[in-house]
Amino acid sequence: MLKYLEAVAKIRGLAKPFPVTTVPLDSATNRILANPILADRDYPPFNRSAMDGIAIRIADWQQGIREFHVRETVFAGVDAVFALTEGECYRIMTGAACPPTADSVIRNEDVSYLTGQRVHVESKQVLYRQHIAQLGEDLAKGNQALSAPCRCDAPTIGTLAALGVRDVPVYAHPSVAIVTTGNEVVAIDQQPDCFQIRNSNQYLLRALCAQWQLPVVLVQHVRDKRGALLETLGEALEHDIVIINGGVSAGDTDYVPEVLEELGVDVLFHKVLIKPGKPVLVGTAPSGNVVFALPGNPLSCLVTFKLFVEEYLWCCFGFGHARFKKAKLLNDKSKKTPVDEFFPVFRESQTDGYTWRSHHGSGDITAALGCHGIGWHPQNKRDINANEVISILSLSSF
Ligand code: AMP
Ligand code: MG
Repeated sequence: MLKYLEAVAKIRGLAKPFPVTTVPLDSATNRILANPILADRDYPPFNRSAMDGIAIRIADWQQGIREFHVRETVFAGVDAVFALTEGECYRIMTGAACPPTADSVIRNEDVSYLTGQRVHVESKQVLYRQHIAQLGEDLAKGNQALSAPCRCDAPTIGTLAALGVRDVPVYAHPSVAIVTTGNEVVAIDQQPDCFQIRNSNQYLLRALCAQWQLPVVLVQHVRDKRGALLETLGEALEHDIVIINGGVSAGDTDYVPEVLEELGVDVLFHKVLIKPGKPVLVGTAPSGNVVFALPGNPLSCLVTFKLFVEEYLWCCFGFGHARFKKAKLLNDKSKKTPVDEFFPVFRESQTDGYTWRSHHGSGDITAALGCHGIGWHPQNKRDINANEVISILSLSSF
């Protein structure tokens, strides 16, 4: 059977960058920037006063002048009219453009305003260019302001706005179809019989897709019937990403693998040596659309989405760096079988570490409640000792 890392390598081989499109800035939050963005001008775009105070010529200070005549008041958003001559200063506001004849700003706290438009400087020391943010010191015109890919989080959106990027180049989102299966599974608005369960995975999967802002355009539940599966999956395969849940194991009514084959799906792999989630299947439709068939147990569904669907998305969005981060596991963990094991981990407040908790297996819907990520117990490792560093996949996708 395929090992986890072999399966990951196959997914990476399958991934191609999503097409690039543009969206208006006000709907770009959390989209993935597809092209680097260059500075359209210098930032700051002018020598900007960082304080309310006065602006002087440093040469005057160096000559020993301590009292200045206010020539003009310079407000933010207004250009000064006059140039300074010896012994003159501007009153200047934070955010105002410091005129070319002034090269040092002294805070209001360090001066005394006298009568007759005169100001006395109380400071013992005044430095050249103090309290003036210099033209281009944050970002020079033509330099790269944002690299791609990157998620358009709030600071990114702010930077794009400062740079005047109204139409943001982002990766197009693939359309997603979610098909759940199972004779025992009923809609959540229905009263389940004592042998039935609610279709929680449909909502789990929709929530996981929502974290990536993926448009879920088809959501359907099918009973474990070959004919019904053939029809629904045939329709679902028209979408870029098809996520099927359940019916992919070795039970008598697990028709998903054979129905997919009948629909011409090329199976990349079926079954991976992992726990939970072993029955997972990944393949490609004749159209090139990608199919993920995830096992029905809720924890298996969550883990296989994070391991395989997100690996695919990560690569198609062009992220090159590792998805897992390193962190300490604070408690011991051992396993007997040589499989890659994945388990919910919980960040402990006041520490930089995580713990794991025992649960009732992959059918335990509550096992991942409150977790911050999925820990990885590698296949060739028997024991993880308390405080050992392990790899963790964040629950928040990025
Ligand atoms: P399967 O992968 O179809 O063999 O299902 C394995 C287990 O997952 C069974 O106990 C199912 O009841 C459960 N299960 C299957 N589909 C869902 C679903 N949509 N929501 C919640 N549990 C499910
Ligand atoms: Mg089933």
